Amino acid sequence: MFKLALCAGHGMNTAGKRCLKAIDKNETREWWLNARICEKLEKLLSLYQEIEIKRMDDTSGKTDVKLSTRTNTANKWGADLYLSVHHNAGIAGGEGGGIVAFTYTKTDSVTKAWQKEFYDELILETKLKGNRATPLATKNLAVLRDTAMPAVLLELGFMDSTKDTPIILTEEYADKCAKALANVIIKRAALKEKTAEIKTPVVKYQVYTAHDKWLPEVEGETDYAGIPGRAIQGLLVETNIGDIEYCVHLKNGKWLPWVKNREDYAGIYGRDIDCIRARLKDNSKYSVECRVATIGRNYYPWVRDNEDYAGVYGNRIDRVQIRLIEK
Ligand SMILES: [Zn+2]
Repeated sequence: MFKLALCAGHGMNTAGKRCLKAIDKNETREWWLNARICEKLEKLLSLYQEIEIKRMDDTSGKTDVKLSTRTNTANKWGADLYLSVHHNAGIAGGEGGGIVAFTYTKTDSVTKAWQKEFYDELILETKLKGNRATPLATKNLAVLRDTAMPAVLLELGFMDSTKDTPIILTEEYADKCAKALANVIIKRAALKEKTAEIKTPVVKYQVYTAHDKWLPEVEGETDYAGIPGRAIQGLLVETNIGDIEYCVHLKNGKWLPWVKNREDYAGIYGRDIDCIRARLKDNSKYSVECRVATIGRNYYPWVRDNEDYAGVYGNRIDRVQIRLIEK
């Protein structure tokens, strides 16, 4: 599980943190711009497995959560990455600007790699390169200094630059930033997409008797395969969750070789079966269970995976049930 501590800088009403009125008459608040990108990033990453995201700011914007609270929360939680999203100021209505990515003054190569990849991907997506001499910068900032995990603070353009401000206000720009950040996290954390639909695990099987030949396929516990009183001589099994292997024991005989899926059937025509066993190949999520009934008797207990075999040596089976269960 990759834990992302995501921090939209400031709060909605933090003094001074807003776009320059001369360029943006609405004086759009920095937190709002930061949070917009964070929300878009969360949405993109919600399509991936094995990632958990916790916001370090107040997502309503009402309070400007103290920096020590933000870093303590991330540290206690054991975040894998602290990502702080900001927008810059300092150009006072001039031109120029561009994106800047900060790490702490003393940092490790892993943090530097996050910083560089975020910056490169952001520039690739947004082209907001600007005129900063050192866009990969270091600074003694609390969220970078007091965090126990790699931490990067991004300044995604200037709120007082005639060039940057009209761009950073657009939805399109926020989308591009979120996409760039998501791309880097997906790649570096090796995230896998959630599958569109969760597959219902199904096991299907059928049996052969000398009198009836191959009987119709049945599914899981919805039915059983076989006809009471008719000895089973062949077995076929398949699943939709990977490979299943199974084998049968001949009455007054031996265990036959394992067979896989429908590559072959287990059994020999003309020879009655008294025991079966089944196992799933390399499946961490499901177990297979089977049980059999013998002629003139009820079912023996379910047996799981390859822990045991189902049946009793010497007693011919006439009914089989196979099911999948979650481990
Ligand atoms: Zn800021």
